[in-house]
Amino acid sequence: MIGSGIVGAAAAYHLSGHGVSVTVIDGGYRGEATQAGAGIVCPWVDHPDDEDWYQLTREGARRYPELVGALGEDIGYAQVGALLVSEEPAELEPVRALLARRYAEAPEMGVVSDVTAPSALFPPIAEDLSALLVPGAARVDGRAVRDALLGAALRQGAELRTGTATITPDGQVLVRAAREADARGRSLSPPPPEARGTTGGRPSWRQGAPEPPSPERPGREPAGEHTTGPEDAGTRPLGEDAGPHGAGVEEAAVVESEAGGEGVAAGKEIGVAEESWAVVEADAVIVAAGAWTGEVCRPLGVELPVFPRRGQIVHATLDGVDTAWWPIVLPRSGPYLLGFPGSRVVVGATVEDVGFAPRVTMGGLEEVLQAGLRVAPGLFGATVTETRVGLRPVYAPGPPLIGRVTDRVAVATGLSAYGLTAGPLTGSLVAGLVLGEEPPIDLTPYGPPG
Ligand SMILES: Cc1cc2nc3c(=O)[nH]c(=O)nc-3n(C[C@H](O)[C@H](O)[C@H](O)COP(=O)(O)OP(=O)(O)OC[C@H]3O[C@@H](n4cnc5c(N)ncnc54)[C@H](O)[C@@H]3O)c2cc1C
Repeated sequence: MIGSGIVGAAAAYHLSGHGVSVTVIDGGYRGEATQAGAGIVCPWVDHPDDEDWYQLTREGARRYPELVGALGEDIGYAQVGALLVSEEPAELEPVRALLARRYAEAPEMGVVSDVTAPSALFPPIAEDLSALLVPGAARVDGRAVRDALLGAALRQGAELRTGTATITPDGQVLVRAAREADARGRSLSPPPPEARGTTGGRPSWRQGAPEPPSPERPGREPAGEHTTGPEDAGTRPLGEDAGPHGAGVEEAAVVESEAGGEGVAAGKEIGVAEESWAVVEADAVIVAAGAWTGEVCRPLGVELPVFPRRGQIVHATLDGVDTAWWPIVLPRSGPYLLGFPGSRVVVGATVEDVGFAPRVTMGGLEEVLQAGLRVAPGLFGATVTETRVGLRPVYAPGPPLIGRVTDRVAVATGLSAYGLTAGPLTGSLVAGLVLGEEPPIDLTPYGPPG
């Protein structure tokens, strides 16, 4: 398993639950989308004209309550509802019609109703907004989901290794410990030029999914202006964080000396460009490396137009205010807002095609804060506690990519702004594919080209 974002963690959970020996490799790349995701689970308002996208997100959302029960721990999941808001009441009509059309097939969205005083549900909101309430919408803590899935996978026998993975042309996996990767990654990553983005990281019900750049120009810096490959990512320095995912993650130095766990060739190392890489033996490989999936698969001779779409997001607190049950606020355009326990409010996010540049910028923050305060002026005095940035993995041709790229290697990525919704399902789908299970949904629309 290459990658332990929400997709990789879910695949590892599914595989280890079936008694498969799993080695999960993660380089702890800065910009991992899962740690930055807002946590909105409200699939029914988006992808009006894309049944494949809609099916994956709807089914992903539908399975959350069961997942919460199976994991048996707090993953921040709560059905708080979503307020679709607009300054113009008439602008709510298309989404009302869309929800009505989809209700019979997805009654879990709940009965949609008009809300005359949205501030009764979300106090900081602007007074002049019209609103519809979708009561079945939920929020979830992406980090907590990922940690819970990974923790359960480890308890089921999976092994986690911290390091950068690469694939040889014949599908063999090599891993290099994170400490070396970090040093190399930093020295090889020039700051890329940036473009100004737009807020609304989760494409709203009005916007639909933002058009991906064409495969010819997939929103990355021109070749030659910055290096490609995992090194571009700027790996997270060890010591700056407890590891990619907090508890349960081993330090790189330990991993180096630990080669020899199940499925790993004992201490076998081969020289690649004067660095030491360990071979990870496996019968099958799943690449769920988020925005980096295209780079990881390139040595196989497979060109996958997967690119990063940056999102910057702000966390704030309102001291003494219980925000835990506030609904999600989804404006017709612009930023979204949602509450979490601990007096926390999240406002996001930018949508920027600037390549592998996982940085919080002045411009990005300005954009999010300005637009957020327009929708919820009552947040003016809130304390900014944290900013996050993540690279959404976008698969340029369309819906997410779930399938085999060679006999040995399968991929699962491209969940864009919907990975916290559809990530657990997607991970289980790709795991099932590798196991030869009958998929619960037809995977043909998500298969790789050719
Ligand atoms: C600001 C923001 C807000 C969002 N809000 C929402 C939301 O409200 N609702 C929703 O449903 N979705 C949301 N999303 C989208 C969601 O977060 C992503 O779609 C999802 O997290 C993608 O998960 P992933 O596992 O595919 O990739 P990632 O989480 O990016 O994980 C990929 C992993 O692969 C590892 N990796 C990569 N290459 C290598 C390598 N060579 N070797 C080893 N490890 C490697 C990386 O370290 C990383 O941990 C949001 C995203 C952002 C950025």
